[in-house]
Amino acid sequence: MMVVIPTIKQFKEHIGIAKQAGISIGFVPTMGALHEGHLALMRRAKDENDLLAVSIFVNPIQFNNQEDLKKYPRTLEQDSIMLESVGCDLLFVPDTLEMYPEPVTDQYEFGKLSEVMEGASRPGHFNGVAIVVRKLFEIVEPDKAYFGEKDFQQLAIIQQLVKMIPLPVEIVPCPIIREMDGLAMSSRNLRLSENERFIAPLIYQTLIKAVKLNTLLSPEELKKWITDKFKSHPEFKIDYIEIAEDQLLQPVAHWNDANSVYIFVAIFLGNVRLIDNMRIF
Ligand code: AMP
Repeated sequence: MMVVIPTIKQFKEHIGIAKQAGISIGFVPTMGALHEGHLALMRRAKDENDLLAVSIFVNPIQFNNQEDLKKYPRTLEQDSIMLESVGCDLLFVPDTLEMYPEPVTDQYEFGKLSEVMEGASRPGHFNGVAIVVRKLFEIVEPDKAYFGEKDFQQLAIIQQLVKMIPLPVEIVPCPIIREMDGLAMSSRNLRLSENERFIAPLIYQTLIKAVKLNTLLSPEELKKWITDKFKSHPEFKIDYIEIAEDQLLQPVAHWNDANSVYIFVAIFLGNVRLIDNMRIF
């Protein structure tokens, strides 16, 4: 049976008992509106640890757009059924006041990593992510925590955070889970209109084709090729397209500038902002 806990104090009591018994804790932090992408992280966490802890908290301080926060889907009843199905043991569901009884002022410095892509497009976003993830790690004390590569830059930020503090937790990256038509699963997909949902797989299809073009085009030419693809469909509004290395996620000018290179995109479909990425090599 899953235990649902809204307070830090109670949650820590459960964790204390588990720790004393030498039970290993796998943790998946989420903002709810769960889908198969989240469940894949949870199945892995359950498999690799004695106890599966999950949090659902729509973290207001990581939203730079108040409309996005207001419209973020909240589906706790359905989430609970999905959590039971993957054998979640402890579910942490704090409210905002429980997490932030006082205004938070912490400032984290992630250098170049936070200056590109999501960091550039969403000011304050990663600081808000770092604050909540640190706080959750201190409450849950996980042995391992699982994060999706869908939010590749967030994963890199968290890896840097636990090294910087430092925090005794192993960060486990997990591959992107997609719908049958290739669209990366996301809670925000629920906000797409029928027509937007129908054309959304173009993002995946474009990435797949682009990856194959790296032997023919330079990074700059490839970026232009991808840009043109989206520009020919007026429903899509590009936020950014980057061809970048996998460490500090800096753009590459030449293919041999890095050992591993990814395409990263953020695209608006109507007022829903979707992100995706794919490894080139
Ligand atoms: P969120 O609830 O959107 O904050 O996501 C919680 C965790 O699930 C994060 O580590 C995300 O990267 C991960 N996640 C979300 N969507 C996917 C997906 N399609 N595939 C893999 N992981 C995902």
